[in-house]
Amino acid sequence: MLELKRLWHLQILEEQREKSLNKRIDPKITKKLKELKTEIEQGQEKLKELKDLYEQAGQLQKHFSQEAQVIKDKISAVSEKIYGGSLQTKQIETYQQRHGDLRKKLLEIEDRELESMQQREDIKQQWEKQKATLANDTRSFKELHQEYLQGKEEIKERANDLAREIEELIRNIKQESMTEYLRLKGKYPNPVSRITRDTCSGCHLSISFEQLKQLKRLEEITYCNHCGRMIFWDPLE
Ligand SMILES: [Zn+2]
Repeated sequence: MLELKRLWHLQILEEQREKSLNKRIDPKITKKLKELKTEIEQGQEKLKELKDLYEQAGQLQKHFSQEAQVIKDKISAVSEKIYGGSLQTKQIETYQQRHGDLRKKLLEIEDRELESMQQREDIKQQWEKQKATLANDTRSFKELHQEYLQGKEEIKERANDLAREIEELIRNIKQESMTEYLRLKGKYPNPVSRITRDTCSGCHLSISFEQLKQLKRLEEITYCNHCGRMIFWDPLE
């Protein structure tokens, strides 16, 4: 009887072990991890793009600034001519006209320079925003990944604990009982049936009154006459 109780216990532990081995990390976690990974990769790509754009805008700004300087130099030269006193009235008019044209052009260039400065500033802001998002995603990924690893470790530990418990229990079970258990295990995942009232917990069929009487008396292994599982009498208290 005690022997069958051990086998019954073994059966429970094996079921638990099976369950813990089949246990998977919540698929929501793995899905979220994948999503975050994609977001991080895209975020890095975006940052690189923004950095390139920032540099381009910088070059453009520099170009306009240089162009503006060239015009300013030209304006200075023209002014010198106008106020130099060496020109005839007619020539002064031409130079003044030229001076006006250059001023107009300078204003245009300066406008464009300002535009590219503004553009550069906008890109910088976008870059900073993108960088903060990326840092956030990276942090979330790390935290979730930690949780994932911990979950995996817990599942492994539980399975190992059960394996140890099973090993210890088997040491206290007679070889012939174990052989019998394994033989039936080939047929049923639950070869041991506990009789708490008058039905087999394996096949749920009624045990005859005669067999029940025998079961309560006998110390040796008894089998259900319907399904052939090992049965033992252990009423619920
Ligand atoms: Zn049965």
